[in-house]
Amino acid sequence: MRPFAYVEPASLTAASEILADPKARAMPIAGGVDLLGELKDRIVEPERLVNLKAIRELDYLRFDSDGTLRLGALATLTAVAGNERLRREFPAVAQAAQSVGSVEIRNVGTVGGNLCQRPRCWYYRSALHKCLKKGGDVCFTTLGDSRYHAILGGGPSFIVHPSDLAPALIACDARVLIAGPGGKKDVPLEKFYVLPSVRLDHETILAPGEIVTEVVVPPAFSAAAGARSLFLKFRERESFDFALASVAASLKMDGATCTAARVVLGGVAPVPWRSGEAEKVVIGKAIDVPTAGQAGEAALKDASPMTNNGYKVPLTKALIQRALIELSGRGREPGPG
Ligand SMILES: Cc1cc2nc3c(=O)[nH]c(=O)nc-3n(C[C@H](O)[C@H](O)[C@H](O)COP(=O)(O)OP(=O)(O)OC[C@H]3O[C@@H](n4cnc5c(N)ncnc54)[C@H](O)[C@@H]3O)c2cc1C
Repeated sequence: MRPFAYVEPASLTAASEILADPKARAMPIAGGVDLLGELKDRIVEPERLVNLKAIRELDYLRFDSDGTLRLGALATLTAVAGNERLRREFPAVAQAAQSVGSVEIRNVGTVGGNLCQRPRCWYYRSALHKCLKKGGDVCFTTLGDSRYHAILGGGPSFIVHPSDLAPALIACDARVLIAGPGGKKDVPLEKFYVLPSVRLDHETILAPGEIVTEVVVPPAFSAAAGARSLFLKFRERESFDFALASVAASLKMDGATCTAARVVLGGVAPVPWRSGEAEKVVIGKAIDVPTAGQAGEAALKDASPMTNNGYKVPLTKALIQRALIELSGRGREPGPG
């Protein structure tokens, strides 16, 4: 890897000033689980790394008196997965954090780093391939092996969003707080990510110098407010692996009737993919096996599989159906699908 200077900023403002200066050629580093891989593979070659861990006040997990959850950008995935109240109030978020990588990765990886990690696409990660995202003129998935790539929302690049935490947080209606040279921003997490058709060099709205400082999860989709949430992930390797497909869902029920739903898919699109189509199918209905199956069909109706990833379509439909049935409280009833 290329040599770099290591900067320990005294404050968020100092970190943001260095990161915003184009001459500094600086990048933020948190746990380093993702960034060090990129440096070793020479995918990025900053001259300075700005150590966010020096800003200790970003490391917290707490609940406000009204039940709002606040995750500092430096909270580790282990802290998120293991917090008793969080597991009770927002089960999908704890389950997603628990499903990330291995215990070592969860101990070091942070909430901010997990949400801002770069795609795992093997062409993007290969120093031998100058793909579209690295200023080249082709997405190699269109010529090569597309088995792990997008079936929804792809083009001109067909990466998939890698974070497990992001779909679960979006299913619970989370917001993200950002600090930068232009001041502070408060953005729904769902609007934090952008498709490759909008921006190719990065997957988020972050501008130079901007740092994720906090994730806020309001109580509306908490267990205390009567919501249920769940995260299901299908991976090739059970020990540790990224999602081939995942679903995070959050429902509110009035008796047997679903009154509100948020369904978000991971591993199938360049961004966490909120499925308004699936939500529409279940809202106002009692969720049984056929209804949950229709939600899966609706979510995938515009899927556009590539040469090697057609398997993701039935896989994702099945995950959606299973998640909705489990959340409805009906268990897995016998029936079609
Ligand atoms: C073998 C392996 C398996 C994995 N499996 C999974 C998995 O199953 N599910 C999953 O979700 N992830 C998985 N990951 C990814 C891992 O969870 C992330 O790499 C980790 O969470 C990143 O957190 P970090 O703090 O180490 O970030 P870093 O590596 O320090 O940073 C990651 C990126 O985010 C930027 N960044 C970091 N913090 C901030 C911030 N506060 N504001 C703005 N930008 C920031 C950095 O500049 C960098 O570009 C896996 C990784 C490996 C190596």
